Amino acid sequence: MARDDGFLMARLLLIVAAGSGSRLGRPEPKALVPLAGRPLLSRTLEAFAPVAFAQTVVTAPPDRVEEFARLVGARGRVVAGGETRSASVRRGLEALAAGDRDIVAIHDAARPFLTAEEIEAVLRAAEKTGAAIAATPVVDTMKRTSSGLIVETVDRDGLFGAATPQAFRVEVLRRAMATGGEATDEAALCERLGIPVAVVPVSRFSFKITTPEDLELAEAILARRGR
Ligand code: C5P
Repeated sequence: MARDDGFLMARLLLIVAAGSGSRLGRPEPKALVPLAGRPLLSRTLEAFAPVAFAQTVVTAPPDRVEEFARLVGARGRVVAGGETRSASVRRGLEALAAGDRDIVAIHDAARPFLTAEEIEAVLRAAEKTGAAIAATPVVDTMKRTSSGLIVETVDRDGLFGAATPQAFRVEVLRRAMATGGEATDEAALCERLGIPVAVVPVSRFSFKITTPEDLELAEAILARRGR
């Protein structure tokens, strides 16, 4: 879908939530896994609630679109995601009525703890530069290994863990996605084309709930915050 409204620039939100719960050891899609009694996706939508977006699209596993739509309600539109994260982003982008100058923020449903200030900072950076991602500075000493043995210590100076939101001017994201490439994040597709991507440091609460330990950590954070 395309929209042409001259020089107005809108902020659009795409939450990718079509992944499975298998690495969490859960039968249901990860976005539906309860976090302190409420689905992970609801928690993530709440984190974004203070930031205004002209449109919100959520990708769901193809067989769960109606269930996700009930959960999302008036907060956004739900469309079927794809086999891979990149395929889900492609479908979500097609579903947004997006003008070339609009800014689209792509966010993993599995990261429920971003603050409104962090989201704003990423959006502002993308509005200025065309592409920006949330990321956390690497704190551990990094080792490259082979067959269980250390090959080298990687200098961690300047190393970041990529998180989301990742925000792009729509024209930039369309160009990056048009290559048909697959990547674990959208910044990587931009990098392949030599498009500069700004890094916005965010707190380590931006972690992605991936394993059962992450879920335990997330539950502990919510218990401490009384939510
Ligand atoms: O699997 P992983 O945790 O890396 O996925 C990151 C995000 O991408 C999750 O929020 C997941 O729901 C989403 N995803 C998707 N479609 C896929 C795979 C993952 O929307 N096919």
